[in-house]
Amino acid sequence: MMQIHSRPVAFAQADAGHAGSGADFEVRCSACKAAHKRSELFPRRYICPDCGAYVRIPARDRILLLADEGSFAELDETLTSTDFLHFPEYQSKLEKAKQTTGEQCAAVSGVMQMQGNPCAVFAMDSRFVMASMGSAVGEKITRLFEYATENRLPVLGVLCSGGARMQEGIVSLMQMAKCSGAVRRHSDAGLLYIALLTDPTTGGMTASVAMEGDITLAEPKTLIGFAGRRVIEQTTGAELPEGFQTSEFLLDHGFVDQILPRESQRDTIALLLRQHQKEIVPDG
Ligand SMILES: [Zn+2]
Repeated sequence: MMQIHSRPVAFAQADAGHAGSGADFEVRCSACKAAHKRSELFPRRYICPDCGAYVRIPARDRILLLADEGSFAELDETLTSTDFLHFPEYQSKLEKAKQTTGEQCAAVSGVMQMQGNPCAVFAMDSRFVMASMGSAVGEKITRLFEYATENRLPVLGVLCSGGARMQEGIVSLMQMAKCSGAVRRHSDAGLLYIALLTDPTTGGMTASVAMEGDITLAEPKTLIGFAGRRVIEQTTGAELPEGFQTSEFLLDHGFVDQILPRESQRDTIALLLRQHQKEIVPDG
């Protein structure tokens, strides 16, 4: 039986250059709609003090909650999307997202240690155009897998996405194939990829990197799906079962390996990393 020790979470004074983490911004609980400050939410792993629901965690804080203190080193920090199709209102949407989050992209990536185990990591930020997968997100994830392959590192992906970024048209759809190729090359090199699905993981992300992990973990009561429930019901004319597209339903049907509450995520993922560490075989 696995022993899970929960560690107290220190309030991380993150990189002050990022308004998304350095400043004491507010995050709204999607269940009870109450707004809370980051300083209150971070030590509680973003569990709503009012209703106990899981508040969506900003990408950078997600990584800080999992990483050994001071071990996270970011990669491709300046990668960002441009409005190459001149899609109505996209430019202002991007600027607003950058301002709100302090990030340049919906994905934050880098390398970190988890209880002394090195791994590459990326996390998605739902506040940034609903963590949709555009050219910058796809490029960042691809580069991270390539970096991990080159440096023989496992990858932890903390997923969350509203789907493909329609403002980038076909280019956003191409990211699914591009990322999947990089995941495949990482896998062919015998390296581990753990996906942690968080609310909501949908659309193009589910159709690619979110479902390509060697081990697929999910948070409780997480929405995971491709198309929305209403769209499927209207298209198929069929009534869908209760709890359809929740992490619990997907666990029952074999798409998810384990549901992890926030208290045990760090210990369990670190244990998985340790168990899958490649043994170093000495020459001769
Ligand atoms: Zn709440």
